[in-house]
Amino acid sequence: MITLDHHPSGRHFLQIPGPSPVPDRILRAMSLPTIDHRGPEFAALGLKVIDGLKRVFRTRHPVAIYPASGTGAWEAALANTMSPGDAVLMFETGHFATLWQKMALRLGLQPEFLSVPGTDAATGLPTGWRRGVQADLIEERLRADTAHRIKAVCVVHNETSTGVTSDIAAVRRAIDAAGHPALLMVDTISGLACADYRHDEWGVDVSISGSQKGLMLPPGISFNALSPKALEASKAAKLPRSFWAWDEIVEMNRGGYWPYTPNTNLLVGLSEALDMLLEQGLDAVFARHQRWAEGVRAAVRAWGLPIQCADASVVSPVLTGVITPQGVDADALRRLIHERFDLSLGTGLGKVKGRMFRIGHLGDSNDLTLVATLAGVEMGLKLAGVALAGSGVQAAMAEFAARPAPRPLRAAA
Ligand code: PLP
Repeated sequence: MITLDHHPSGRHFLQIPGPSPVPDRILRAMSLPTIDHRGPEFAALGLKVIDGLKRVFRTRHPVAIYPASGTGAWEAALANTMSPGDAVLMFETGHFATLWQKMALRLGLQPEFLSVPGTDAATGLPTGWRRGVQADLIEERLRADTAHRIKAVCVVHNETSTGVTSDIAAVRRAIDAAGHPALLMVDTISGLACADYRHDEWGVDVSISGSQKGLMLPPGISFNALSPKALEASKAAKLPRSFWAWDEIVEMNRGGYWPYTPNTNLLVGLSEALDMLLEQGLDAVFARHQRWAEGVRAAVRAWGLPIQCADASVVSPVLTGVITPQGVDADALRRLIHERFDLSLGTGLGKVKGRMFRIGHLGDSNDLTLVATLAGVEMGLKLAGVALAGSGVQAAMAEFAARPAPRPLRAAA
């Protein structure tokens, strides 16, 4: 047996859909000495990152920051607003929606899990895992709930397990059309700072996100963006909470501090990330991800493989799910590509395990990183004996060359 105890030359290709590659500028910022989290310098940092996050969530209301992964922020959203036995309406778009639903059960809520039934004939995969939230089904269910037992509608904005987004404004319209008072809670853990997101305009009550995706940070901090209606609901909610409780956090955040020790250095990194995103402008950030996604999808189409998202109107700008032919184990393919080319791809999760892999196109990336990534995938597919219709690398190169980035990456000489 050969032990790989050396550090391979060149950079590892971390092309999973989060944690995303962290820009050097952020890594350097995080390496500064840790500061006193009760001192004056920290208050300035705290106020700055909260203000910057509000701009990224597009909200005027409080954003709570937790020293926790995204799962913690899911729990915070439910624990702050719900009472034991409350009904919540959730929508099965993939593995993360499923995990959130399981959490609701464990917290003593009564989740109702709407889904699109059936299996796709061509791929054998669950139909609902290839599509986004169907707002009409939500509206229909809410109209039937005349007693208003349902206290919240919970949906995932960018389903990281499938590469499918959902139209959050349409979900808001569905709730309003049904005249239902339920809160709207949205997981935008992998959508924020990659895809357009508007907490206030879309009438979201709790938006949940995390550091390790579009914000280009390591994992470890997560967020709840709130609405006045969510804050009001938290006053009556009876689920037990202490660490997650919004009231103390929101109160202490007014001065730039936290009720406990925050992740000081990650917040320094967040400050840097926000500077980078806001300097570029969010619209430019979204356009960059769209462009990358189009290049990657051009490659998958050229290979002749199905894209996990079956509805072109909701394909994700963050990642692309690629379905392997029947009989080709997607995880064995991923292992081969990792061993041979030092490239990490996302695994298929839950119901699609072994049948698909995910290419992340977020974080510190560019056209050439993605072309190299696609070259690694193409070589791996050939080594695994998959018959390809054509070259995905050529198709991606053609796509990137035909559609230059809106702004030159470097100034002309
Ligand atoms: N929701 C979505 C959409 C995710 O992509 C993830 C993680 O990838 C989670 C929730 C869970 O977050 P975490 O793993 O940071 O706890």
